[in-house]
Amino acid sequence: MTALPAAPPDVVLAGRLEPDEAGRYVHVPFDVPDGVQQLHVRYEYTDRVPSDPLVGGGNTLDIGLFDERGIAAGGLGFRGWSGSNKLAFTVDAAWATPPYRPGPIGVGTWHALLGPYKVSPRGVEYRVDIWFNPGLSPDEPPPALRQPVPAPARPAPAERGWVRCDLHSHTVYSDGDSWPAEVLRAAASAGLDVLGITDHNSAHAGVIGHLGGDGMPIVLPGVEVTTYGGHWNAWGVDRWFDFREPTREATAATMRQAAAAGAFVSVNHPKPFGPAWVYGDGLGYHAIEVWNGPWEHLNALALAHWDAHLRRGERIIAVGGSDTHHLRRLDLGPLAMPRLGHPTTWLRVNGPITPDAVLEGLHQGRCFVSATPEGPQLYLDEVDGTIRARVVGGRGGALLVLSDAGCVAASSISADDWEQRVPFPADAAYLRAQVVDGVGGMLALSNPVWRGD
Ligand SMILES: [Zn+2]
Repeated sequence: MTALPAAPPDVVLAGRLEPDEAGRYVHVPFDVPDGVQQLHVRYEYTDRVPSDPLVGGGNTLDIGLFDERGIAAGGLGFRGWSGSNKLAFTVDAAWATPPYRPGPIGVGTWHALLGPYKVSPRGVEYRVDIWFNPGLSPDEPPPALRQPVPAPARPAPAERGWVRCDLHSHTVYSDGDSWPAEVLRAAASAGLDVLGITDHNSAHAGVIGHLGGDGMPIVLPGVEVTTYGGHWNAWGVDRWFDFREPTREATAATMRQAAAAGAFVSVNHPKPFGPAWVYGDGLGYHAIEVWNGPWEHLNALALAHWDAHLRRGERIIAVGGSDTHHLRRLDLGPLAMPRLGHPTTWLRVNGPITPDAVLEGLHQGRCFVSATPEGPQLYLDEVDGTIRARVVGGRGGALLVLSDAGCVAASSISADDWEQRVPFPADAAYLRAQVVDGVGGMLALSNPVWRGD
């Protein structure tokens, strides 16, 4: 962390928030005088606990910053939001602590954005110290991307045009521990073709978009819009979306705005401790992240949430993402530790792999999700009223074919490259498939084939 400036702060913002103010952002104004090229912010608060949704009994206070251009939703005044991940950051005309945006430090009224994510019954007392022109230098420059990275020997996709994606990851531009170039290198080592970088309330396609390709996975830039009632991803756009109003109406309006701007939009990890999703259904999203990190982390409930949409006839697409935050913290054990490509979303892409081609494949729902980059691969399509399920690398497991009415067929998978045909039942609206292991653990799941497609 940056050294503490020697001089006392130029501005001190101190106050208190009560338990009934939890989940509601406050904007605390302060004035920036003429002649400022650098602004350093440091904050502290009482009874601090981590943002992890499994941890309670204390306070978590998020912070962000708006400049003199104002606090309007989607506006230019937004300089960044770091959640509770950084207790100090610097915004300079020429550089900034990620995820904050460098640029001119304009004269006028700025706002510290304070988000009481968790407030204990005792309330939270906070203090934000701000220095003007403390003369700090950047902590460490981002590492250069060394190319190329030798890709591991993974079986090629059994069908043409399919690529391996991890759609959900984090970097130092939110609460990840690694720079985008490092995460991309790790994605290459995992054998991925596409890496979605989705930092919390932080779009930075300008910084990451050029990193991939040329022997490396391509980057699909996105943002994880992180609200106090749930998280959602918008891929394919380079702008921030308002996250401050935790209501169904505001979230629906912002999701529709994102879709209208060309984003592919998903509800993320709708399951207990995901954090969960409280806004309900029908908000204009394209997809649901039915598989987030290790399957055992209650993903069966996210799958059930998606299934309910399908049974209502809503063509919502299932995607997966590892939600990897850490490449350096290896102390948590394999179950607790999201890893790139666990799960992998396999996607059929038309032509060269570009962000636009990936977005198109996602919109078409031409994808399935597997536990690891090794697979198993699960291809599902319809030929003349019959469903063809092909499983590669799933020998010893079982294939379940499911409709809106339940399980239509179940068979053990007896070969490394194995195929089964199932007639489309007359009363089924759709069929989808899952590959499970001997104790019912999830190995792969497909998107549905709808009657008449
Ligand atoms: Zn999330």
